[in-house]
This record gives sequence, structure tokens and C-alpha cells, in this order.
Amino acid sequence: MNSTTASESRPLPPDHEQRLSRALRSLDGLSVGDSLGECFLSGEAKFGLSGVEPQIPSGPWRVTDDTIMALSIVRCLQRHGYMHQQTLAEGFAAEYRSDVTRGYGTGAHLILRAISDGVPWSEAARRVFDGKGSCGNGGAMRVAPLGAYFANDVERIIVEARASAEVTHAHPDGQTGAIAVALAAGWIANQSKLNSGYTLIEHVLAHLPKTETFEKLLVALEVPFTTRPEVAGDRLGNGSRVTASDTVPFCLWCVARHPNNYAQALWAAIGGFGDIDTNCAIVGGIIAAGNPQAGIPPSWLEARERIRLGRS
Ligand SMILES: [Mg+2]
Repeated sequence: MNSTTASESRPLPPDHEQRLSRALRSLDGLSVGDSLGECFLSGEAKFGLSGVEPQIPSGPWRVTDDTIMALSIVRCLQRHGYMHQQTLAEGFAAEYRSDVTRGYGTGAHLILRAISDGVPWSEAARRVFDGKGSCGNGGAMRVAPLGAYFANDVERIIVEARASAEVTHAHPDGQTGAIAVALAAGWIANQSKLNSGYTLIEHVLAHLPKTETFEKLLVALEVPFTTRPEVAGDRLGNGSRVTASDTVPFCLWCVARHPNNYAQALWAAIGGFGDIDTNCAIVGGIIAAGNPQAGIPPSWLEARERIRLGRS
């Protein structure tokens, strides 16, 4: 059931601009992570072997579906101040039509093509995977800026994150993955001081629907931060199955390990291998929602392909 309708309009919140600037900060973190992660997947960047820093290429680093879909979420927030699902579906479909080569998954191709052909998003999202809907990590990969926007309201984060995912992810766990990432971004945005620790994961678990991602996230509490990312990725899932439950727990573990250091958190995410662009988009989007001192390296921001909030 749509939680919004095309005709519904609501006033923007009084602190809209402040919320939007948090969302934009998170979008920068998400898009730099996405594009850097993609350099590793494409082979342009080389993994560091035993203590050697990875080699990363000069820009421009191309962003992928994670960033392109996150842009539509931020545009929807900018315009409506909430997840107006029809606007969001149209935004996703328009971006898809303008460039289908951004690394969309198989299910996403089917859904976005169907929406482009005029199928209502609710039907298109339900059709895939034998009518079960997608439990993929696509709802999670794009949602961190939404958590930053609604940072001070946990209940609202849950409602809006679910609405953002529902447009393409009819499966409940696809939605849970998005809720988890948005809760993490909202939590980080509210902290003035951060140390590594499991509090972030505990906060997310306390509010998360009890689907597969919840069960897997419980396991993350048992993985010490001294564990090598590759081993943690093996235990928690590194996104190679491209499901929410195979992706989000490892990403939140990386954030909890390095909540104060954007670059270190991304190196951990990259060290887990798997769906690297998406893992880095999730980790980067969450960390950048918080303390600006956590710092996206300026040279990385410079290397990322230029993105525009206004549609070209
Ligand atoms: Mg991608």
C-alpha cells in the first residue's frame, strides 16, 4: 500500500535547510565511497598487500547506481521533505533511462524498465523474484542521506526509510536493510563524540524489524574489532550475494570499528571484498552524516565524478 499519494503535499519542516545540509554531507560520503569502491571492482585501483597502502587512481572516479539512486532520494527530500513515493519512482526511472550503464542489478533493470513503461511502481516492485519482491541491498545502498535528514526522529526514520525502499523492494528484508542504514546514519548525525564500539549496532538492533538482516546483525556484536575485515566479511557476508542481509551487517561493523575516520572505515569496507562499491557507499554515507571532522579526504572528493543535485 502506498504510504503517500501523488496529490498529497505537506509543508517543509522549519529546519529543512539544516536537515538538507546533513543529507548532502552524507551524499558526498556515499558517492565518494561508491566511486572509490568501483575503482577496486573495475581494477583501476589495486588492493594493498600486507601493510602496503592500496593504490588508487586519479579521477574522475565514476559513480554507480548507488549514487544515482541516492540523488533521487535527496531530490525528493529537497522538494517534499518526505518520501513522496511517486516522485521517487519517477526520479529513479528517469535516471535509469538517461543512463542504464551505472551498474544496476538484474532486478533493478526489470523494475525500472517496467516503471518507465508505465507500470505502477507498487506492481513493478512486487513482480520480481517470483512475486516475492527484491530483498537486495539496493534499498540500503542509497538511503544514508535520508537517515541524516531525519536524524532527530527514530520513528520517522523507520517510516521514511521503509517508504524509500518499498518503491523497488517489496520484500520485507530489502526494507529492513534500508531501515538499518538510515538508523545508523541518524544515530551518527546526533553524536558529538564517537569512539569505536558496538553502541551503534545496539541502537540499530533496538529499532529494527526482526527479519534476516536483524538476525545477521546480531552476529556482528560477536565479531571483535581486531578481526581482519576479510575475515569479518566472510563471517557476516560481504555483499557478494547482493542481498540486504549479506551486506548491511558487515557495513555497520566497519562503521562501528572506525566511526571517527572516513578513510579508515572505507579501507575496512574495501578489505572485505564482495560488493565493494555498495559496501563503501553504505559505510561512507553513514560516517559522513556525522561529525564533519571524520573527514572525507579532499583529494577523494575532488576525484569523484561531478554530481548535480539539479537534474541536467
Ligand atoms: Mg553500484
